[in-house]
Amino acid sequence: MGVSSQSFQAILDDLYHKYKTLDDGKVASYIPELAKMNPNWFSICVVTADGRVFVAGDAEQLFTIQSISKVFVYGLALEDHGREAVLSKVGVEPTGDPFNSIIRLDEYSKRPDNPMINAGAIATTSLIKGNGATERLNRMLDMFRRYVGHDVYIDMSVFVSERSSGHRNRAMASLMRHFGMIDDRMDESLDLYFQQCSMMVNCRDLAVMAATLANRGINPITGDRAVPTRYIRDILSVMYTCGMYNFAGQWAYTVGIPAKSGVSGGIIAIVPRQVGIAVFSPPLDTHGNSVRGIKVCEELSRQFELHMFDPPMGCSHLLEQLGAVRGEG
Ligand code: GLN
Repeated sequence: MGVSSQSFQAILDDLYHKYKTLDDGKVASYIPELAKMNPNWFSICVVTADGRVFVAGDAEQLFTIQSISKVFVYGLALEDHGREAVLSKVGVEPTGDPFNSIIRLDEYSKRPDNPMINAGAIATTSLIKGNGATERLNRMLDMFRRYVGHDVYIDMSVFVSERSSGHRNRAMASLMRHFGMIDDRMDESLDLYFQQCSMMVNCRDLAVMAATLANRGINPITGDRAVPTRYIRDILSVMYTCGMYNFAGQWAYTVGIPAKSGVSGGIIAIVPRQVGIAVFSPPLDTHGNSVRGIKVCEELSRQFELHMFDPPMGCSHLLEQLGAVRGEG
């Protein structure tokens, strides 16, 4: 089966119109800046591993990346320290608990379960190398810049709000400091974590970032390498098993591709070597995942047989199906 660029675009437009009126879910409200987001914001963007861009809705609307940042900072920690050293500080086990759970961080486990929940992400961020807060922040922003292909900025009011209200994250960091899982730059690392969550992106940026992971670490638009290919496997594995919080098992079962969501309403999903998918829509379900985002990804997966274990070999060759036509939209 082949699908032209035009008909793929038409399918995205149809999905957009189909779910535009779905008004389930609630916009995150733990800080006022997120509560201000318009629940009607909605966009879908697919970027192929050879750099074609398909957009439905307003993919330019900016929002903060939130937990989706965890994926990319994990890649930077791997690059800075290697697999074994990172594994000694952050595990790779899904928890089945909410993203901000503190309950499994105890005397027995010490190590946070995985890098996609807050505790693990704070531990990951604490591993970012650099001499002082500014150098570490700049290294992190440089890394994000390689993924999106342009300069990136932090939303200061979100950052300040995250920092002043992040008592639970601070408690987890203190516990991990006590267990020796993070070093004595704890406050600096927490700031860095709140800053990474407050980085501004749009849906198109997220899809390019996802496509960079699909394209083995090379940004398909700029040709720049964002992360060494050898760590793509690690990143996609934890996304597949842990990326959708305590919905990860059901997601793996129904959608079947690595993904990550964030509380501002973004979801990225990766079809390795083929496409990066991003959906943005702020209203969240009880797990903290975008309601429209889940629907769109479920339908795309079903329609194009993207599930890793779909016959005959999974991840049906969407890229080949799309043919060789180049160009936006
Ligand atoms: N800034 C949020 C937090 O640390 C990010 C959480 C999320 O997107 N799930 O609580």
